Amino acid sequence: MAQSTESTRLDALRQLDLLDTTPHRGFDRITRLAAQIFGLPMALISLTDADRQWFKSRIEVIAESVPRQGAPCADVVETSSIIVVEDLLESNAYRRGAYARTGIRFYAGAPLVTPQGHCLGSLCVLGNEPRTASDDELQALTDLAEIVMAQVEMLHAVGRVDAISGMPNRNQFLDDLTDMALDEPGGTRMAVLVEIASSLEMDQAARVMGTRYFDEVVQAAAATIQAIIGPHRPLYHVGSTHFAFMAPSGVEKTSYAALLRSRTQNQHRTLRSGFLLSPRIGVSEFQLGDIEPREVLRTAHAAAQGARLAGDTVSFYSRKEDQSDARRYWILNAFKSAIAEDQLHLVYQPRVDLWSGECKGTEALVRWTHPESGAISPAEFVPIIESTGDIRSLTEWVVDASLAQMAAWQRQEVFVRLSINISPSNLEDTEFLPMLEQRLREHRISSDQIELEITEGAVMREGGNGLDKLGAISSMGLTLAIDDFGTGYSSLSYLQKLPVDVVKIDRSFLLNLTTDEKALTLVRAMITLCHDLGYRVVAEGIEDKATTDLLVRAGCDEGQGYYFGRPMLPDAFRAWLQDREKALL
Ligand code: C2E
Ligand code: MG
Ligand code: MG
Repeated sequence: MAQSTESTRLDALRQLDLLDTTPHRGFDRITRLAAQIFGLPMALISLTDADRQWFKSRIEVIAESVPRQGAPCADVVETSSIIVVEDLLESNAYRRGAYARTGIRFYAGAPLVTPQGHCLGSLCVLGNEPRTASDDELQALTDLAEIVMAQVEMLHAVGRVDAISGMPNRNQFLDDLTDMALDEPGGTRMAVLVEIASSLEMDQAARVMGTRYFDEVVQAAAATIQAIIGPHRPLYHVGSTHFAFMAPSGVEKTSYAALLRSRTQNQHRTLRSGFLLSPRIGVSEFQLGDIEPREVLRTAHAAAQGARLAGDTVSFYSRKEDQSDARRYWILNAFKSAIAEDQLHLVYQPRVDLWSGECKGTEALVRWTHPESGAISPAEFVPIIESTGDIRSLTEWVVDASLAQMAAWQRQEVFVRLSINISPSNLEDTEFLPMLEQRLREHRISSDQIELEITEGAVMREGGNGLDKLGAISSMGLTLAIDDFGTGYSSLSYLQKLPVDVVKIDRSFLLNLTTDEKALTLVRAMITLCHDLGYRVVAEGIEDKATTDLLVRAGCDEGQGYYFGRPMLPDAFRAWLQDREKALL
């Protein structure tokens, strides 16, 4: 058989996913029937791989596979025709083959041929005595071989079609891409992946509306996307909320993206039930044959995630962004089990009055230790999960754990004010304040012992809404601090309207304080300004005595930083506090 034909045959065989699956009961019925028709003890369905015969179903045959060499099945495949060997021991070709060695004398095998004409293997019957085969018997064997192939095709189709949308699935997409690479190696193509909604949206919708609604949404989305790309372009349902298709070859990248964007926006609508879907599209351009089909799908998926993170509809895959996206994506997923699996804990960093040296409070800072990857910094993961619903659970966990800690300290006669960092989305969340009030009640902590830290950027982003929320926080008796002050772009007139008590000057302003006169001037001006507006000023990230002295002279009220104390575990913090109090006596 020519090499190229043999390799297409092997591709066809592998694409049917038959080799690495277990024998199938449906096939056993056929082999049993074949054995009965011939009145023989053995029958088998064998598939001919590059160098072995694999048995998909066997009656009374011992091994799972035999070497291809010297097996008559291999010749059935080679010639694509029925072969009868009345006595293997009389045949020069098969006398020393694997079958003859196990005492088999008679062989009859019919080819298993796909509709495309590839012969994958054979259906054969075997006997321990030499015998002949009648025309009727051979016709029956040929018919049964066709039934085997019909069953193979059917099983294959079942694994290729999505049950909900009826569209070809991920396996089919990967196979079609493999074929495309064979037909047109080196050709440039674009794979497009559509994520019909974020997993958060789908979760919420399924929770409220039930899973049937979920199916309806998926079916409606399939129809909509098919309408967008036209009826003749195959659409694949590659994941529960993901569809994929290939862009027509030769289209220009940017104009195609623009077309997709505008067509999607036209279709973008609120579904019957009022849930808004936010489809995102990822486009991955690649050279056929250069990249594994799975990788094509992954890169298109990464691009869709990129679109979601960037708040855009369509995004192209970029190898450069991929690594950081992959990390973001990993963090988003890994964080899902962080709380339930107890991977979080809190550390406490003191805040010190620069004039008296007294500890004025402590800031709870979250720590995440992943079982395999170890410590992941909040500076990395908090901004990532802030874009998802998980930030709500994180804040709730931090509030609960830090208030429980405070209550435990109070039982040990340790009294200290607590600062908790909250995120912009907590301000948008209507359940946040009621949750906070409830937790304060549960842990019997008075609200005037608690300060909430909100970054300057967050306050600015919230605009008028933020102002209302901050007002509500302040009227609950909690104090408010602006964190990382100086890194956002606040207008001073706006800051002045905020019900804020404390401003924490960002660490970056302290970096060159001892060497750069201008840096000192700037910090002095910030302190004066904040005092004029009535705020207490805290300097973040003080690492040495020289910086502390300058800040004292500049009139700064409080300081926080490694110079006074690093973030510490609760017991270490308590010991630190007791030492400090002793030293001040
Ligand atoms: P932040 O609230 O401004 O916290 C101060 C950060 O500076 C902390 O980093 C702290 O460990 C670090 N730091 C304190 N003193 C020094 C110093 O002298 N030198 C230097 N180089 N660094 C110092 P951390 O703990 O890695 O937290 C980073 C950020 O993550 C925090 O900045 C805060 O924005 C966020 N974060 C931490 N915990 C939480 C939390 O529970 N909830 C929320 N929403 N955000 C949190
Ligand atoms: Mg903070
Ligand atoms: Mg800060």
